[in-house]
Amino acid sequence: MKILVANLGSTSLKWRLFDFAAGAETLLHKGGLERVTDYGAAIDECLGALQRDGAIAGEADLAAVGFKTVLAKNLSGCVRLDEQAVAAMEAMNSVAPAHNTAYVNGVRQFARRMPGTPLVGLFETAFYQWAPEKAMRYAVPPRWHEAGIRRWGFHGASHKFIAERSAELLGRDDVAERARRLYVDQGRTPVREPALRVVSCHLGGSSSITGIRNGVAIGNSLGLSPQSGLPHNNRVGDLDAMALPFAMRTLGLSADEAERQLCQEAGLLGISGVSNDIRDIQAAAAAGNAAAQLALDVFVHEARRWIGAYLMELNGLDALVFTAGIGENRAEIREAICAELDQLGIRLDPDRNQATRAAEGVISADDSPVKLMVIPTNEELVVAREVRRLLDRQ
Ligand code: AMP
Repeated sequence: MKILVANLGSTSLKWRLFDFAAGAETLLHKGGLERVTDYGAAIDECLGALQRDGAIAGEADLAAVGFKTVLAKNLSGCVRLDEQAVAAMEAMNSVAPAHNTAYVNGVRQFARRMPGTPLVGLFETAFYQWAPEKAMRYAVPPRWHEAGIRRWGFHGASHKFIAERSAELLGRDDVAERARRLYVDQGRTPVREPALRVVSCHLGGSSSITGIRNGVAIGNSLGLSPQSGLPHNNRVGDLDAMALPFAMRTLGLSADEAERQLCQEAGLLGISGVSNDIRDIQAAAAAGNAAAQLALDVFVHEARRWIGAYLMELNGLDALVFTAGIGENRAEIREAICAELDQLGIRLDPDRNQATRAAEGVISADDSPVKLMVIPTNEELVVAREVRRLLDRQ
């Protein structure tokens, strides 16, 4: 069974083609197009490349196209993207304009171009469907809540990959199986005692932290939108609700302009004034730029704050996992996040940490009660697996 996973940006189309023949999971093809102006033509180019390179004989070879969709009104999980589902996504465009709009437009183009092929979305919110309500509720008036103003949580595909893989690496096949089957049986796969407690840190251009008990998320640092939680590359992270009306009044900003600044001129770029890439910010900080150092300090502080919150909720930890661009590659950031936590059972091995880059590995000291791990994430594979499970069920 061949499943194409399409990653849609406002001007980009990236893809990976997986084959699930004979129980294997094979990556058959990957590629991408930048500066896309005509999405229909980009889809044709993608299908052409797959055929040219012998990955598919024709369009009919594709069992489905899967998408890592973001957010939809009253809809989550892994679902067929019919026009009703796309309209539900469209209804939430203003919450995640950079991400959602690209999927709404792109999926419609796929539907036009490939009307006979099932289109399936795995929503980034899906992993949080079983998080306790108290962790997802904002203290807003009921009408706000009913309008969808609640914590949704994002990066679900990535954190689900970490839930499965960390359990495998920790020898808890029971928990890995529960995580694997989550969208099939809603977390009812039995597991042994004691509970497996993991905190997953997805640190990248967008960052989020999730607590996971027995393979099921108990919350996520991203809330209503992917603009909250830790500071992101150029997007704000957590902000007091009163800051927005105050800034609009005192700085004379329209709502649109305030939103633009919070989503484009804030985050690590906003504090550092240097770049939205952590490598440039680290280089500037090393050269003595105090604003750059402050950006790193705020990032690390916020990461520790969220890890601490889940450590409390989970009554301790078995593993703390780092993933995504920063989590997989920036040893100094991992070291700063884990500094002086030995009383909580978190002891990093500096040499192992420095030696681990873009690869799976344990970076804790042998006597560390909490395992510290780096696990490269694989969001596209999670999407493809869920699409396959959905097709198998239908
Ligand atoms: P992501 O959104 O996961 O692609 O992560 C983007 C962030 O991770 C940027 O701030 C980069 O500085 C950092 N990053 C990504 N790849 C690398 C790499 N190979 N080496 C160092 N840092 C990286």
